[in-house]
Amino acid sequence: MTIIEPFKIKSVEPIRFTTREQRVEMLKNAAYNPFLLHADDVLIDLLTDSGTTAMSALQWSGIMNGDEAYAGSRSYYRFENVLRALTGFTHIIPTHQGRAAEKILFSLVGGAGKVIPNNTHFDTTRANIEYSGAVAVDLLNAVGKQPSVRADFKGNMDIDALVALIERVGVENVPLVMVTVTNNSGGGQPVSMANIKAVRAVCDTYKLPLFLDACRFAENAMFIKMREPGYENVSVRDIAHEMFSLADGATMSAKKDGMVNTGGFLAMHDGALAERARTVLIVTEGFPTYGGLARRDLEAMAQGLEEVLEEDYLRYRLRSVEYFGDKLRAAGVPILEPTGGHAVYLDAKRFAPHIPPSQFPGQAISCAIYLEGGIRGVEIGSLMFGTTNEQGEHVGPDMELVRLAIPRRVYTQSHIDYCSEVIINVYNQRESLRGMKLTYEAEYLRHFTARLEYVE
Ligand SMILES: *Cc1c(COP(=O)(O)O)cnc(C)c1O
Repeated sequence: MTIIEPFKIKSVEPIRFTTREQRVEMLKNAAYNPFLLHADDVLIDLLTDSGTTAMSALQWSGIMNGDEAYAGSRSYYRFENVLRALTGFTHIIPTHQGRAAEKILFSLVGGAGKVIPNNTHFDTTRANIEYSGAVAVDLLNAVGKQPSVRADFKGNMDIDALVALIERVGVENVPLVMVTVTNNSGGGQPVSMANIKAVRAVCDTYKLPLFLDACRFAENAMFIKMREPGYENVSVRDIAHEMFSLADGATMSAKKDGMVNTGGFLAMHDGALAERARTVLIVTEGFPTYGGLARRDLEAMAQGLEEVLEEDYLRYRLRSVEYFGDKLRAAGVPILEPTGGHAVYLDAKRFAPHIPPSQFPGQAISCAIYLEGGIRGVEIGSLMFGTTNEQGEHVGPDMELVRLAIPRRVYTQSHIDYCSEVIINVYNQRESLRGMKLTYEAEYLRHFTARLEYVE
């Protein structure tokens, strides 16, 4: 049976159709960097799933119902109750988005000489750790790095590598261990409960706290239900609760599985650490019962964190991403296998093998998809992570990808069918794709503002 969208549409937003001639002009004006396009000139925007969620009628009524008291707002207590029931954590600290929670946590436990392991640090997590002077280390299991290999839990941490790292740098230099569910930077791949338990066991041996980067905890819990033996009859809520019960704390961007346009939190059991975190919060974000948010945002988050655990929603969510991947695969388009929770990733090395990494094959594909059908994705490859060594040679990352992230509850199956057709058309003309070169790059995070042109 077709798995249908488990909602009907109450409020609609028009999207703007453009001609190819217009898009040629607009992409040129955006210096061949889709980040520099006006969103109004994009037909289907798959740039990110972050903060792009369509809220429900109950969330919108929560916005109206929010209690804007500065201190002790009713909306805060609702938010706290929902999160305490879900996670079991004693201290729940709201922040305006995920990186604010990371900033607070790592300004307290990071610093020079410290080392923080993770399956794969998201770029803001890595940036906050490095900004504190500490070192961020990725310990993804080997299969997670092979885009064409299908496996159930490609987000798992390499447990032997974790033990080896702790032994090498000294346990006193590891303030905590992190696990990111699902592994965003590694393709939205899930982490198994068995792997979280194994990380927990290592943390117990060395008496280290375990923190989850919980941005996509519900998608991860649904993957566990569908794939991990012993969980097929456990509710997603109970699975999520078990994941959190294995940890000592969590950071989260609610712009993902919180189903809101902005928000996040930092949560933990440790009362002394929470006290210090609230002090930083008051200086940088706001009073502990709002943390840089309008109180109505807390109301929307509380409601979103309930809705995200509805299994009909999660089944549809994971299926719609898989459906997109299946259509592309059936036409021979190379993608990262299997599809993850929130995005389909085109494998640019196999898609455009004639373009060397130094000429940004992912960016060439990303531009072609916009020109062909007004779709915006994002390059995750040499433009985002590449560097030049002392010999002046290009050094690229392991994978050259184009991420097509699916906003939650925003697009329907026919939108996805259209996207598949556009990408298949581009794939069928792949020999005509041309390499690109930079004409401007900023010192840090160059992909956001880079300017490019085609090579001759
Ligand atoms: C988005 C994200 C963050 C950062 O959250 P923001 O709300 O964008 O600040 C951290 N970790 C992961 C895994 C993410 O996907």
